[in-house]
This record gives sequence, structure tokens and C-alpha cells, in this order.
Amino acid sequence: MDKKHYAVAVDGPSGAGKSTLAKAAAKELGITYVDTGAIYRVIGLAALRRGIEPHDAAAVTAFLPELEIGLKHGNDGLQHMYLDGEDVSDAIRLPEVSMYASAVSALPDVRAFLLEMQRSLARTQSVIMDGRDIGTVVLPDAEVKIFLTADEKVRAQRRCLELEQRGTPKPFDEVLAEIRERDYNDSHRAAAPLRRADGAVLVDTSELDFEQSKALILKTIREKIDA
Ligand code: C5P
Repeated sequence: MDKKHYAVAVDGPSGAGKSTLAKAAAKELGITYVDTGAIYRVIGLAALRRGIEPHDAAAVTAFLPELEIGLKHGNDGLQHMYLDGEDVSDAIRLPEVSMYASAVSALPDVRAFLLEMQRSLARTQSVIMDGRDIGTVVLPDAEVKIFLTADEKVRAQRRCLELEQRGTPKPFDEVLAEIRERDYNDSHRAAAPLRRADGAVLVDTSELDFEQSKALILKTIREKIDA
């Protein structure tokens, strides 16, 4: 296996810990972490700011060419997202943007618009890329594919903690309902629905803490790649 250039695809439902774990694994392996959900979030944010109904395919498709979406990895190694030149890395994390991102991501035109941007990031460097369709659509030839999941209540609990730490707490029942809605939307849409890719290793973190999950992911990657 060519150690210099490889791709790890990590897919799974909301709140499974994909970004935290993929980021930690990338650091350990010295490769680039790409958070594709953040790119969908930028489009969700743009729709929200323009007052566009995110399920309205015609309206969303019409504004796509106007958007200037930037993705840069800072010196901190973190992925920063830009919309028309503005750093929107924090703004895209607002809970209302999550629902907008989920809605716009169901539109085939939006997925097609972002496909090449995601693929090009994996062409020149080793990446660990997380999302919903990385192993199935974006990088079907990825050397390693992981389907990361956890029980929905565990995911809701983790999301609650994260929101609390960000200073925007929300009741557990509300967070659980949102997770269920996003799971349903992501796995029932016609365009690139969330599903486990052929050959993807299933990693369930329901009973694992962060360190255990990270160790399992690194072991899974190292079993396939001399990294
Ligand atoms: O992963 P994150 O929650 O930030 O993603 C935001 C939304 O973008 C998800 O709810 C999902 O609908 C969508 N998404 C997607 N395909 C990806 C990544 C994210 O449809 N590859």
C-alpha cells in the first residue's frame, strides 16, 4: 500500500462522533481532516440568510452559482469555512443551520455542485474525510471505509453536552427529536442516502469513550494501511 497518499472515508449519522474522532485520527496520522458536513452547512447558512426555503429546489439551485465557498486549513490544522469571503466557521454550527443543511443536502443539484470540490481535496494529499456518502459516492475507491455509529440516545446525550459547552443548551427531548429527524432525512432521501458502504468497517461507539473509540479507529485504519 502506498503510504504517502491514501483516503479514509468515515460516514455515519449525526452525533456519532465522526468529526471529533476523524480530527483526532488525522492529527495522529499526520494527514488532512476534511469535514464535508461543514460545506453543506455553508449552503444551509446561505439559504437561511437569504430567507430561502431550504426544501425549495428551484430557489436553492438558482442561488448556488452566486455563492463563493472557501475551505482553508489554518495553521491550527482546523478547517475554516468561508462564505463570500467571511469566515463562517462558528455561524454554521448554530442549531437552525443544522436543519437547513440537512434540507439542502437532499437536493441533487446541491450534491452535484459539491462533488468535485470534495474529490479534489483527496486528489493531492492523504485525507480522512467524514460525511454521509463519502464511502459510497464521493470516494468510492477510498483505501479505508468506516461506518461510525452509536445508539440515538447516546448521540443525543453527547450533542446536549456539546451544546451546553458552547453556551447554547437545549432540552434532551428536543435534541433527540432533531437527531431522529435528521437521521430520517439523511437515510431516506433519494440522492446519496446515508448507508454503510460495501466493505465499510462498522464502528459502534455507544459503549466506548473517546479514547477507546479513537484507538479502535486508528487500529482499523492501520490494519489496512501502513500509516
Ligand atoms: O455532519 P454535519 O452534521 O455537520 O452535516 C450537516 C448536514 O449535511 C447533515 O445533516 C447531512 O444532511 C448533510 N451532509 C450530507 N452529506 C455529507 C455531509 C453532510 O448530506 N457528506
